[in-house]
Amino acid sequence: MNGLAEAAGSFALTRWVSRKSRADFEHWQAAALRRFLNGDLPRAPFYGKAPARLIDLPVTDKALLMARFEDFNIHHLTAAQAWAALAGEGRAGSLTIGASTGTSGNRGLFVISEAEKYRWLGAILAKAAPDLLWRGMRVAVILPQNTGLYDSARKSRLIRLAFFDLTLGPESWRGALEAFDPTIIIAPPKVLRHFASEGFRLRPKRVFSAAETLDPVDRPVIEDFFRLPLDQIYMATEGLFAVTCRQGGLHLAEDSVFFEFEPAGEGLVTPLVTTFRRRTQIMARYRMNDLLRLSKAPCRCGSPLRCLDEIVGRMDDVFRLMSPDGPVLVTPDVLRNAVLKADRRIDDFRLVQTGPDRVELSLPPTFADDAAAAAHQAAQALLDARKALATVTLVRAPLPLEIGRKLRRVEARLERAR
Ligand SMILES: [Zn+2]
Repeated sequence: MNGLAEAAGSFALTRWVSRKSRADFEHWQAAALRRFLNGDLPRAPFYGKAPARLIDLPVTDKALLMARFEDFNIHHLTAAQAWAALAGEGRAGSLTIGASTGTSGNRGLFVISEAEKYRWLGAILAKAAPDLLWRGMRVAVILPQNTGLYDSARKSRLIRLAFFDLTLGPESWRGALEAFDPTIIIAPPKVLRHFASEGFRLRPKRVFSAAETLDPVDRPVIEDFFRLPLDQIYMATEGLFAVTCRQGGLHLAEDSVFFEFEPAGEGLVTPLVTTFRRRTQIMARYRMNDLLRLSKAPCRCGSPLRCLDEIVGRMDDVFRLMSPDGPVLVTPDVLRNAVLKADRRIDDFRLVQTGPDRVELSLPPTFADDAAAAAHQAAQALLDARKALATVTLVRAPLPLEIGRKLRRVEARLERAR
């Protein structure tokens, strides 16, 4: 099958599945998962044979996947070969290699086939903009690096796709982006906010936040500027995990991923994902680093796919502190809300755990002193209420647009080795 046929097939399947009842969907999903476990998973040397049940398989994570990269893809491609391919054109034969951003040593690699690339494209179009497809769309993707996934679309006639390299800085391609006049923009929230503050001349029909956690504080700024509701695409090296529907529900991509959830405290969960429609790199019961809040109610749109209320942040950014009663964990959303609720003039900040008992709150000097003092007090009061033995220090400094790394307003920057 050629690329466009793959994309069209995936588009149609994604739309078809979205109209099923939940019971019919679960039946379809169970059969698709079973086919994956019997037919695809055993082809990866790490597994070798089909399990009786999914839950008989061990939980996997990035460290294991990277340590035994060649055992998790069916072509026995080694991590060294993949890195070498990535340093060149990002291809190894007919395979596309990509990597997540992140500190070196912590980057994740992925390998996908041509067919999978087109299937991914079809699925994302079916979820993100089914109504815009036939009217001709111009999609601007602004991410820290070209992952190779987008090359497929660039060649198709249905859509025009342009990639803008965030690492070069927005000013280097501002003119080109405005001239492209995108109907769909996919970018990290900090970049969308930068467009707002710098008054970029853009008039998209749909705007998606991607690649970083969307902080509630950025949403109104972006929505006011574009006069559009802000949608989200939750994707990572590991795949496409959730996309906002036209009714505003952030639906899990359960049509290509089987999710299990582990409780993470404060009503949050972390997902284990099994990507049952990917056949090149096998990922089963893979533990993601993200903290999610699941919705209790189904979405008005009628899709059987369950929804997220919020992608809260990363497990890595949970503050781990000590108290007289033992360890205390405080999740990023609780910390963020404490700072933001202290004073409504605060719409940007950084809160970083820098040591076992040290936390630093940074606020730009442009904020009023009493607002800064209130935020400082609120952060300290939250930790005190949890009996955490930690001191919050207030730093007044500008918060520049960081293009080289993901923005995390709440971040634990402790040495992991200890
Ligand atoms: Zn929906």
